Amino acid sequence: MSAVVTRFAPSPTGRLHVGNVRTALHNWLLARQAGGRFLLRIDDTDAARSREEYVEAIRADLAWLGIVPDGEERQSARFELYEAEFAKLVASGLVYRCYETAQELDLKRKVLLGRGLPPIYDRAALDLTKADHAARAAAGEAPHWRFLLNRNQPIEWIDGIRGRQHFDAGQMSDPVIRRADGSWLYMLPSVIDDIAMGVTDVLRGEDHVSNTATQVQMFAAFGIDPPAFAHEALLVGSEGKLSKRLGSLGMEDLRAEGIEPEAVLSMLARLGTSQPVEPVLDRDQLAATFQLNTFGRAPARFDEAELARLNAQVVHRLPYAQVAARLPADMDEAGWQAVQPNLPTVAEAADWWAVVKGPIAVPPLEAEDRAFLAVAADTLAAQDWGDSPWQALTGVLKEATARKGKALFLPLRLALTGREHGPDMGALLPLIGRDEALVRLRAAASN
Ligand code: GLU
Repeated sequence: MSAVVTRFAPSPTGRLHVGNVRTALHNWLLARQAGGRFLLRIDDTDAARSREEYVEAIRADLAWLGIVPDGEERQSARFELYEAEFAKLVASGLVYRCYETAQELDLKRKVLLGRGLPPIYDRAALDLTKADHAARAAAGEAPHWRFLLNRNQPIEWIDGIRGRQHFDAGQMSDPVIRRADGSWLYMLPSVIDDIAMGVTDVLRGEDHVSNTATQVQMFAAFGIDPPAFAHEALLVGSEGKLSKRLGSLGMEDLRAEGIEPEAVLSMLARLGTSQPVEPVLDRDQLAATFQLNTFGRAPARFDEAELARLNAQVVHRLPYAQVAARLPADMDEAGWQAVQPNLPTVAEAADWWAVVKGPIAVPPLEAEDRAFLAVAADTLAAQDWGDSPWQALTGVLKEATARKGKALFLPLRLALTGREHGPDMGALLPLIGRDEALVRLRAAASN
């Protein structure tokens, strides 16, 4: 039994967006769950559009997410293999030379459509003789190459998400696999690599379903059983459409917004499935619960507001050790724990730490509240600081002043933090400390 091998195969022509990352994550989870291997395959056969900076950005984004490939391959380093495998197809007559220009093909398509027929390539080039090819070559015309589909062979596979798939090869055009300049289109090198790398499972977006139909026959041409295929519904924006924003929303944008990798993973692992989207910090748990048969056929809606909410839930669970390097240098574990339950992002811990450390600005208060704060300062000065000074202080003030609820807590919070809302005062006050708290209460009382 061969172990599971999956791959993520981005073209380095841009940065990863959430849709690509979702595909990468799912392939990684699939391999990890089975104790298999997850490969990063850089599809850089298109030298003109591929850029090294994007290769590096892809690696960096995956590393940020903690998606660690078990190996990396680059198609640009594998041209010899493609050449050798292509030669086998030439020898068996399964690829053929064509010379039609884009305009000629367009015209053919229009004619067929005009007659109400499917716009399938008519295989005219199959009729060319040796002499025809020689004449073209003599005229300096290089051919492009098509793969010869087997029209008598129905194409079928059981898709891990879509179920039984059936395509009629008679209704499909022989795909162009190689351009006249010798460069490769995506289709054939991908099959050659999937075979050479022992890929057992191909999980990708449903925009590839018709490519799969063609590729199933390419595997057959090499005498190899195809891998297991699964195609997931695409990601759409919250308004239900394929959105521009989504197509360009990259990891660096999310990182800049304070989104944690765990939030991205938690969201993308479950979106579009029947499983709940919830904060899961443990990647093994995400892997263990990943199941293709929970995926729906409807597009998965990616809502940035939902990601922000999920992110807050993740932040509320992050242990100090994991965030310490991103906190103000003197913020200790108690400081983190005090402010953590209120944070939408880790970066905002620094704002609260600045409140703890001071100075703070307190808005002007009513005379009545100022008088109350003077009493609060005296009470605090007289009381034992103890383990829970906030509970002690408010307990005494409630008795002494008959204030309760907002009237009791809000002036104190304003005087001590300068803000109306924030972390639990019971956790904040010990961090502010006795002396500073007295200074703040007295200042607000005489403000
Ligand atoms: N480079 C291809 C793409 O990004 C790979 C597709 C595949 O997974 O086979 O669409």
